[in-house]
Amino acid sequence: MNPSRYVYLDYAATSPMDPKVIEVMNEHFRSSYGNSSSLHSVGQKAAQTLVKSRETVASLINAQRDEIIFTSSGTEADNIAILGAALKNQNRGKNIITSVIEHHAVENTCKSLKKKGFSITFLPVDKYGLIDIRELEDMISEETTLISVMFANNEIGTLEPIKEIGALAKKHDVLFHTDAVQAFGKVPIDVEAMNIDMLSASAHKLYGPKGVGMLYLRNKGVRESGGEFIEPIMYGGGHERDMRPSTVNVPGIAGFAKAVELVKNEMPEEIELQTNYRDKIIKNVLENIGDTYLNGHPTKRLPNNVNLGIRFIEGESIVLDLDSEGIAVSTGSACSSKSLDPSHVLLALGLKPQEAQGSLRATVGRFTTDDDVEYFLEKLPPIIARLRKMSPLKNR
Ligand code: PLP
Repeated sequence: MNPSRYVYLDYAATSPMDPKVIEVMNEHFRSSYGNSSSLHSVGQKAAQTLVKSRETVASLINAQRDEIIFTSSGTEADNIAILGAALKNQNRGKNIITSVIEHHAVENTCKSLKKKGFSITFLPVDKYGLIDIRELEDMISEETTLISVMFANNEIGTLEPIKEIGALAKKHDVLFHTDAVQAFGKVPIDVEAMNIDMLSASAHKLYGPKGVGMLYLRNKGVRESGGEFIEPIMYGGGHERDMRPSTVNVPGIAGFAKAVELVKNEMPEEIELQTNYRDKIIKNVLENIGDTYLNGHPTKRLPNNVNLGIRFIEGESIVLDLDSEGIAVSTGSACSSKSLDPSHVLLALGLKPQEAQGSLRATVGRFTTDDDVEYFLEKLPPIIARLRKMSPLKNR
């Protein structure tokens, strides 16, 4: 690591915390240490913080305060939603539809249900990573109780047609869950207009703390039929609508709420700035470095995501060389970047395994500067040229 300069371009893996979030959390570690279930005043102070935080987080997606279930992560929210919906509705049917490009938090949760006698239908995507709405409609059967399709893909940034999926789910009376861990706070989300029943998000992708997430859980089950439409998968005290028992992490949640407040005020400017950086990197690389291409959709993509295919060399080598120049990027999903297998997302786009190995993901964020982008664009070409010179694939 270059000690004199470090350029962080891996915001999709996790973001640094905003100093304002740290400030709020520090204050709450001191003042909101009470148990939010306690009757005394320290407990009630924590309970009030929780209520306010729920309100703030709900407001970003046009939800009601009581529809936010705080969790310990996006992964936990995905598990509660998918397992909970499958178990609760198994007498109606045992089919779940999901896409082939989901994060492992959804993919492996669905696969675990397969072992319990559920059928999982994996919806394919086109070369940009987009699902086809008509294909989805064809797949819905009498047995289908849940559709789980991600809002935005973590590797290639492609934004799925969420509103259309929501409308379809409503038409067929099927529950709709979306993993919005990458999209929450990056693009506008409206759970009402988009007919979303459940949505997962995570604080550490938007300048909040790690280990804090949430599940938006529509209140319709309670309002309409006197019961939740998912079954709890954990048991304990009655916290978080009985869906996520355990003493509540109030300081972490207050930090999450502060992160949401900040992003809510700044979203249009952040989208514009990050889109400019994104497009500058894409244009520069595609124009100046031969044998490169863009993975994912050119416009229907997260404002902060660049994913490049770089022929003849492996993404890991570029990541390591860039790191030695003081630049952090990745090959794709942080969760699977230690695995040598090519990305299931890139393979699903139709890339050959060798092509999928040559991917590079650079994701910008709130603290990215013009200089950071310039530095990255200056350091990348000589690294690629050097690696290609040594590459047996290039010299074949
Ligand atoms: N879903 C998506 C799309 C993600 O990108 C991630 C994290 O990278 C997760 C789920 C998991 O979130 P968490 O790290 O909060 O468990």
